[in-house]
Amino acid sequence: MTADADFIVVGAGSAGCIVAAELARCDVGRVLLLEAGPSDNHPLVKMPFGLTWLMGSKRDWRFKSDPQKGLGDRQLNVHRGRMLGGSGSINSMVWFRGRRDDFDGWNVKGWEWPDVEPAFEAVEAKLQPKQMTGVHPLVQALSDLFGGNANEAPTPEYESAGTFRFNMRNARRWSAADAFMRPAQAAYDLKVRTGSEVDRIEFEGDQAKRVILLDGTKLSASKGIVLSAGSIGSPAILMRSGVGPAEHLQELGITVTHNSEEVGDNLHDHPAAGLHFAGPRSGYGLTLSQMPAWMLAPFRYLFARKGRFASPTVEGGAFFNARCDTGEPDVQCHFIPFMLDWKGSRFTHGSGYFADVCACRPKSRGRLRLTSADPNVAPDIDLGLFQDPDDVETLLAGLKRLRELMSKAAFGKHRAPEVYPGPEVSSDEALRQHIKDRGATAYHPVGTLRMGEGTAPVTPRLAVAGVTDLWVADASVMPSVTSANTNAPSMMIGYRAAKFISEDTA
Ligand SMILES: Cc1cc2nc3c(=O)[nH]c(=O)nc-3n(C[C@H](O)[C@H](O)[C@H](O)COP(=O)(O)OP(=O)(O)OC[C@H]3O[C@@H](n4cnc5c(N)ncnc54)[C@H](O)[C@@H]3O)c2cc1C
Repeated sequence: MTADADFIVVGAGSAGCIVAAELARCDVGRVLLLEAGPSDNHPLVKMPFGLTWLMGSKRDWRFKSDPQKGLGDRQLNVHRGRMLGGSGSINSMVWFRGRRDDFDGWNVKGWEWPDVEPAFEAVEAKLQPKQMTGVHPLVQALSDLFGGNANEAPTPEYESAGTFRFNMRNARRWSAADAFMRPAQAAYDLKVRTGSEVDRIEFEGDQAKRVILLDGTKLSASKGIVLSAGSIGSPAILMRSGVGPAEHLQELGITVTHNSEEVGDNLHDHPAAGLHFAGPRSGYGLTLSQMPAWMLAPFRYLFARKGRFASPTVEGGAFFNARCDTGEPDVQCHFIPFMLDWKGSRFTHGSGYFADVCACRPKSRGRLRLTSADPNVAPDIDLGLFQDPDDVETLLAGLKRLRELMSKAAFGKHRAPEVYPGPEVSSDEALRQHIKDRGATAYHPVGTLRMGEGTAPVTPRLAVAGVTDLWVADASVMPSVTSANTNAPSMMIGYRAAKFISEDTA
């Protein structure tokens, strides 16, 4: 019987769109890309400001973390895109490769900076990330903080600040689906199926043969299957397929195909905490004087691709050393020139801005486990936030330095006072409490299927250890998170995966 495809890729996210497109381009045979969610063809996906409505919508998996001990048992939203383009269709499109020594520090053969750099270049040739134009004057003022140049984006390699680069084109989102998947669909043998949520993979012996969808449909692959369902989806599918910690799988009644103890371990994300500033004539916000601008915003966007709807909310930020000692950045700041609410809802009356600090190299680790063999039940997501006290201390020092930097920035008439947690919250103890009460993540979960040698669930060539014809290509394979936003590194992984797979199956 003919197989449904030669290769099946599960998950059309940042990495999945690229691995599928590149496999098809390498002429490996028929490639089928399966996506659980719908198309990304929606105005809120294309318009940068639309992400404020997409988070928490039906195009988001709407996962929740476990109650986090380090956060006084608060549960956090774990936003993940659920449509073509994946999280890259609901993200802020901030573009950073990470630091060169992030990759050297992975200590995985074949993944040092000279190995990954050409893949970043190939991805960037298609995505063409650029510094945003028309940013708020508050963001323009940031570039002076470390004596930088306004035409140069900050970098995690040294202390720097200013306007970020974004993967937007003509003020529209330009995701891996736009840059890679759609052109490959038109040019090569790549088929894409939306609304196709994968439950598990079926093996014959140790060979991956078929995927089984939630509705029971079976789709077979003659050459292999690639998991690109992201740091939450990929380990969950793998465990439901019987590859994971044997004892855990047996407790849930799942037949063990291969005992791989570390599947789901090593979950981590960039922890973050921030400061809110509010005052008249400050950042964008809901005020009487800004009403005409808000009313015009859809038309300015529609006809000129300008204005506040062209903003992905984060417009710039900085990298700096929290303790101001080594000069080597250990925190990233995201700067949002919009008034955000600190009481619960997203936007509130008034005008202001927000700045956070994220620890670039968090030490805390959590883990992902299934709660049931039923794919309709969300997994147990323990982000392990602040389990290592060093992460709290880095954010504490980072918040203090952020205050200093914000007071130094040449914000002019747009300057506003800090209103939350407010200058009175200044002792170390009070700031630690603020981090506990308000700490969150930057939505960069990685690491649940770390690649490496020995007991690592995935090999350096991205094959699932202990079975055959099965690979992983997404953020889950990062042994440790890169020092900045994770979209570009996820795409780089997708690009390299296609090369490995086509070479290793030739
Ligand atoms: C709100 C938000 C803002 C962010 N902002 C930025 C930013 O500005 N810059 C940046 O660099 N990074 C940002 N990130 C992170 C970045 O987008 C991710 O690191 C990156 O997209 C991860 O890529 P991935 O391929 O690993 O997973 P994803 O892009 O999440 O792709 C996984 C895909 O698999 C699909 N899938 C999952 N399970 C199944 C299943 N069972 N069957 C079929 N399909 C399935 C999903 O629907 C999804 O399409 C942000 C993330 C979020 C959520």
